[in-house]
Parts: sequence; C-alpha cells; structure tokens
Amino acid sequence: MSVTKKNIDLLILNGLIVPVTGPNQVIENGAVAVDKGRIIEVGTTDTLKEKYIGKKVVDARNKAVMPGLINAHCHFLQDFLKGSRDDLPLIDWIDQVSFPRIKLAVQDYLSGRYELQTFAAIHGCITNIKSGITSVVNMEWATPVETIKVYEDIGIRAAHTLTITDNHNWTPPEAILSNEVLFNLADELNQLCKVSKDNRVSFWYGIACPNSCTPEMLTKVRELANMKHIPIHIHLAETEYEYNSFTKNFNRTPTAYLKDIGVLGNDVLAAHCIWLTDEDIKILKETGTSVVHNPECNMKLASGIAPIAKMLKEGINVSLGTDSCAVNDNTDIFQTMRIAVMLQRVANLDSMIVSSYQALEMATIGGAKSLGLGDQLGTLESGKLADIILVNLKSANMRPINNIVNNLVYCAQSGNVDTVIINGNIVMENKVMLTINEEEALYEAEAYALRRFKEAGLSIPSYYLKSLEEGKE
Ligand SMILES: [Zn+2]
Repeated sequence: MSVTKKNIDLLILNGLIVPVTGPNQVIENGAVAVDKGRIIEVGTTDTLKEKYIGKKVVDARNKAVMPGLINAHCHFLQDFLKGSRDDLPLIDWIDQVSFPRIKLAVQDYLSGRYELQTFAAIHGCITNIKSGITSVVNMEWATPVETIKVYEDIGIRAAHTLTITDNHNWTPPEAILSNEVLFNLADELNQLCKVSKDNRVSFWYGIACPNSCTPEMLTKVRELANMKHIPIHIHLAETEYEYNSFTKNFNRTPTAYLKDIGVLGNDVLAAHCIWLTDEDIKILKETGTSVVHNPECNMKLASGIAPIAKMLKEGINVSLGTDSCAVNDNTDIFQTMRIAVMLQRVANLDSMIVSSYQALEMATIGGAKSLGLGDQLGTLESGKLADIILVNLKSANMRPINNIVNNLVYCAQSGNVDTVIINGNIVMENKVMLTINEEEALYEAEAYALRRFKEAGLSIPSYYLKSLEEGKE
C-alpha cells in the first residue's frame, strides 16, 4: 500500500542524533523532519524517508545532529578585544579595558553614532553561530535599535539585554545614561523585539551587578519587569570584592541583598554566582533564579569557582556562557562544557561529580530554561523550535567515537560545527554562512572598531593597524 508522503521544509537524514532527552538516548542513522520552523518528527532515516519529502534535504552522514547550543552570557562589544590582556585582576580589568570601551559606546550612542555597536552585533552573531550557538544572551550598554535588525538579518535567536546603571560611585559618569534616555531606549528596543522576525529576539533588562545600581533603581527595574513581563539579567556574586563590600556595608551577602529588595525571581538569570553561602544557594533555589556559569572567564580572572555541582544537586537551573571575548577569549562553548566539568571535579576532588551529559544539558536544556523557553528549545523533540546543529565526526580531533556525548564534550571544538539551523532556517551550511558574507563582514566590523578605538585614544596594537591599512588580503 503506498502512503502519500508529506511535503515539508527540511529533512535531515543519515545522522547520529543526540537529542539530549536522556543520557543514553542516541539514534543511529537518524533523521529529523522540520516544517514551518519546528521539529515535527525525530526518528530513523528509514522511517522518516517513508513519510516525508523535504524541499531541502541535508545529508548528515558522519555528523552528529544535536540541539543548537545556547550561550547564556556574552557581551558582543568585547568581541573586538580577543587576546588583548592577560595581566589584570577583574577590578582593574573593568577600569582599564572594559569601561573605556563602554564609555565610548555610550557617548557614541548619545551623539548618534551607531556603527560601533552595530558592527559589534554583526561580529558577535557570526562568531557565535560559527561555534554552533543558536541562541545568545547578549548584555550590552546603550545599543541603538539597529542592533535588533542585525540579529534578525543574520538569523540568530537572541535575548538582547540593555544594561541599567545609576550608581555614580561604581560607574563612570560617561557610561551612565539619564533615566529618561535609558528607559525610552528600553521601551523602543522592547517594542521592536516584540515584533521581531520569527519572534526570535526578546528584550531584557540588564543590571551590571548589585553594586552598580541604587536600591531605588533596583526596585524600579523589578517593578517595570513585572509590569512589562521583561526578564532581568545580572552579574551576581562574581568577585570577593563584591561579596566583602555587601557583607561589610549591608551585613548581608549580595544574593541576600537582592532577595530582600525583591529583585530575584524565576525571570532572573544571574551570571557567575561564585561567592555564595549555602544560604545563598537556598535563596537562588527558592526564588527560581537561573544561573549562568562562565568557567573560563572565572578561571582567567581568578575570580573563584562557582559551586555548580552543589547548585545542580539542589535543582537550580544552570546554563553556560562564554562571557566576553576579552576575558575568555573565545566563543567556543564546546570548550566551556569541557572546562565546566573539569573545574568542578578538581575543585571537589571527585572524578564522578558533574558528568559530560550534565554539561551538555547545561548548554542546551539549561540555556533554554534560562531564556524562559524550556518547553520550546534545548532538545530535539517533536513540537520544539528547529534550532539544530550538525557536528563533523570525521575530523581528526573527534575520532574515533567511543561515546558520542563524551566525544562532543571532551573532544569537540567549535571548528567542528558544520551546519547551523535556527528556527528551521539554514544559517550556516558546510561551514559557510548563508546569511552574510563572513569575511567581508568581519573585516568591515574590525576595521571600523579599531579605527574608532584609535580615534578615541584607546590603544591598538600596531601590527593590527598596519594590516587594516593594507586592506583585506
Ligand atoms: Zn559578563
């Protein structure tokens, strides 16, 4: 009996499917059917070939097919700072590296020069997608509305976070927008995100850290978040300095302080969460606050070790982030997964603590829950949004495959990512970006940023300037 096959947008065939629906759930010679931006079925190639005709067919032979990875904490503007410093503690790093660029971006915004942030968004989207990242939480300062169009056009899924700060003792005045300008911009960005293409971009409030805002501002952000249903992203308990200053000045930990003000909640994503007491961990759990772990940045800046194993045991939702390229210095979230496991093991002197599968869960399901999209993203299952990546298993660094989850977490690198599908659209195929000319866009973005930094009196390595002056190769 012949069965009429259904025409669908995309059929991925012959892959090794890692759906992240359980530690040992793998489909050999598997297939994924995608239509109208969603996964409609996951099964064997033989079964799905019988049922569907894909307008586009992707042959995933010798490739792992897995959910797109979620980078739950990064700062695109600092993409331009890869490899720039290796010799500063966090506090000096913020003063000497981070704030001069942030001040420039804020001042540029106020004078109507929008290119720096727009080019940063282009650069960040490309580097993240090339690493197999399909969703980002990008925390920025004073971004023009043009940024939203960049996410839409390049095809990434994004939670765009506008940083709010009003504490003049913590933030240089040149980096502070007036309340009027700030909240007008927030409303404008929020409106655009609400009607973003494929509903791919959402708007979030950002709080740089508990020190960066007055208690009045923290309360205001919470009220606005409740009223407008906008999530909040914050750096929390990142440094010993922050922990000590809160315990000294307020007789409370930074986490307890935020809880008492009412900021924490299940719409909050807190980055780092290193300096926590057991009581703080309870607070995060009780408030339903999600955590994003950035182990590489924490290690490079010697900020400390977040008690991730403990948080996972408590059932707190943990996701992974690369943080900025100035403190990491890459967007390779495969490395982040690997290091997240290893750091917990050495910290706890326990080789059984945090498994490779848990790392994979943090980079997929944990990220999806952090975005408030736990029922929409994070696994390859029928009904979920089609954010899917293909990882080449034939590369020398991946071979041989003894356990696909272990190989993905311990052997894979971002360079092994072959194809990236976001919302059912192929954004990168066979390592080639389809939505933008990668080389031209990266060059143009870097050329602008470096010239702008130079013009503003910020240091730029001479060899980099020379290569820019000589033009593209
Ligand atoms: Zn950060």
